[in-house]
Amino acid sequence: MDRFVTSIVPPVRPWQTATVVGVRRETPNAKTFQLMLPGPHEFLAGQHFIVRLMAADGYRAQRAYSAASAPGAEPLEITVELLAGGEVSTFLHGGVEVGDTVEVRGPIGGHFTWQVSEPILGIAGGSGIVPLMSMLRAARAAGREELVTLVVSTRTPRELYYTLELAGPQTTVVYTREAPAGHPRAVGRLTDADLAAVVRPGQLPFVCGSPAFCDAATMLLDGLGVPSRHIRVERFGPSG
Ligand SMILES: Cc1cc2nc3c(=O)[nH]c(=O)nc-3n(C[C@H](O)[C@H](O)[C@H](O)COP(=O)(O)OP(=O)(O)OC[C@H]3O[C@@H](n4cnc5c(N)ncnc54)[C@H](O)[C@@H]3O)c2cc1C
Repeated sequence: MDRFVTSIVPPVRPWQTATVVGVRRETPNAKTFQLMLPGPHEFLAGQHFIVRLMAADGYRAQRAYSAASAPGAEPLEITVELLAGGEVSTFLHGGVEVGDTVEVRGPIGGHFTWQVSEPILGIAGGSGIVPLMSMLRAARAAGREELVTLVVSTRTPRELYYTLELAGPQTTVVYTREAPAGHPRAVGRLTDADLAAVVRPGQLPFVCGSPAFCDAATMLLDGLGVPSRHIRVERFGPSG
């Protein structure tokens, strides 16, 4: 028997110069950027790319952004939340237009991925909906929408990403500060009751958002009997 186990290391993808071919406003603080990449960039729903900005003096800054579009759909889409004082998100929002170029590398990430196979429960806070939107779009493209259940937490209706596309029987929206008139749920943070209504045996749970949101959602799932080791978590904390 072989003494050493061979591990398969995914190849490091090279940087590519992507052209911005579209910019779409999702909310007052979020924009979707459509990127055309010249080379291969096949990805799985849930993976992310690194976007690098380069100044004329050689200064560079890079951040991770999840794919929002479905695998195989062109152009690649990312959705970026504008963070007050944020270096890269501020530049992308204020200084990047159609025809501009950015450096992109990826895809990256092997844990937070889904291939339209088993049923999933996606729980998102704010911009954490981005990789889960890729999963929903992938499911719809495959005609397997019934595999996806989403719970999306957002402060107000104005801050909800992809509002029209998200609507459907598989999506529950939790408004934490202000809800639209007639919304059936009272305003407030995500609770175990919200999740108890949608947790089913056999679902693969995905949680994405700020580190605090991810910790809270994971604890709620744990309390409902979903072992935290089974939960796939993507924390949108500071990256570099
Ligand atoms: C795997 C991964 C995927 C990601 N995908 C997305 C995505 O799809 N869309 C998206 O908008 N962001 C995403 N992010 C976050 C993104 O990488 C940046 O962290 C974010 O855009 C802020 O970068 P910045 O340069 O504007 O802010 P910075 O200049 O890095 O930070 C400015 C201030 O904001 C704080 N801060 C940094 N990042 C965050 C954050 N995410 N939330 C709250 N405060 C923060 C910093 O601590 C600092 O105080 C992802 C992060 C990871 C790790």
